Amino acid sequence: MEWKKTINPVTSIGPSKAHDLLFGCPLSVVIGSKSNRENCPESIPSNRKAIIGTIKHGLLEKSISAKGEGEVQEWTIKDAILMFDELTKKEEEKLKNNKLNSHLLPIQHEKNFTTEKIKCARIAVDKRKKIVLRYTNKEISYSSKKVKTRLFGPEVRAWDLEKEPKNISKPKNDEYKLFGFIDFVESSNKEIIIGDIKTGKIRTEQGLIKGNFVTQLELYRAMWILTAQHINGKRVDNLEISTVLDSDEGREKIDTSNYMENLQNVRNKIDYVNEIISENNKVGNVTSKLAKPSLENCRFCSRRPGCTSYSDFLKTEIPLDERNDLKGIIISKPVKINHSLNKYQFRLKNNNDNTVWIVDNIDSDRIEIEKIQVGRTISVYSGKSIIEENNPKINFRFKCYDSSIAYLDNYPFD
Ligand code: SF4
Repeated sequence: MEWKKTINPVTSIGPSKAHDLLFGCPLSVVIGSKSNRENCPESIPSNRKAIIGTIKHGLLEKSISAKGEGEVQEWTIKDAILMFDELTKKEEEKLKNNKLNSHLLPIQHEKNFTTEKIKCARIAVDKRKKIVLRYTNKEISYSSKKVKTRLFGPEVRAWDLEKEPKNISKPKNDEYKLFGFIDFVESSNKEIIIGDIKTGKIRTEQGLIKGNFVTQLELYRAMWILTAQHINGKRVDNLEISTVLDSDEGREKIDTSNYMENLQNVRNKIDYVNEIISENNKVGNVTSKLAKPSLENCRFCSRRPGCTSYSDFLKTEIPLDERNDLKGIIISKPVKINHSLNKYQFRLKNNNDNTVWIVDNIDSDRIEIEKIQVGRTISVYSGKSIIEENNPKINFRFKCYDSSIAYLDNYPFD
């Protein structure tokens, strides 16, 4: 689980990471990129909601796809539910071999699983109906064969190809910095629609479209244009193109007029991080230059237990009652919670501010309980801090969930 001592340059990234590179924490993108992700492994468990999001996305993608079908047929609710179940099984197979996340089995145990499944099946049936109608009216036509270099249909591959690649169906690593699958590209007489399917909320609490979704669509647009130019052998940026987010609420057009400017910004930033890495690729150097710890940036970073910068940030800068992660010295042995098979609680002291915490509900599957010994340093991730008002000996309670995990001592730095 420990990060390797050196960091590799970034070869390419997916458009969904570009917003973090430009506006969030560039280090998180570097360590999550293909060339580093094995050396800097994820060490925070996922949660069932995220897995169900992947299943929903898979079903909606299938509903607009004609892959392997001679004639595109409508679906019944039963068809869609069967497919949802198949996709669930596939995700469960993956989880079986995943030490960090096998506790999420079975996925059906998530609250509201059946309601979510039926809701998603209904949306998929509806999407399918619309696609069949458009096929019948010849508004769109997708190749049902698996063609590598196609520009329309579901899952369209696109690169930010600056120069003519040697082989357009398989550009080489040094010919691009961005690569991704666009969920769908449709063409009609009037315009080309580039779209991305989202299964969760697409707006911020202030009602704005999330910035990372806009950046992602801007890049898809730029990448599609560049890929199309190399496939067609001519410029295509004079075409009428619109970009949409396709969510449970329907399709929403997104303004992506800054697409080329942002593509250039991403390329420049990748050059910048690679320059830092090539000057001195030691983890400490790269971390000190690229990490941008903040509550917002780090909250969902699954590599935070390995990040020294986050570890320092965790010590002091997060308000005590807003903590999802906690670090301190163990001051009492773990005790099994009444009537529970594998849940424990123990106390720790945060040496920076001398607050005393009770860590509650930690699962023995997530940490070896016999190693929780008084005097050792422990970090607990993905819980919730609660002010303890009626207990004079304890200041805060840190509530653990199924996805909480703990690491002992100065993991991974000692
Ligand atoms: S934990 Fe925070 S600072 Fe460290 S890599 Fe992740 S997002 Fe960046």
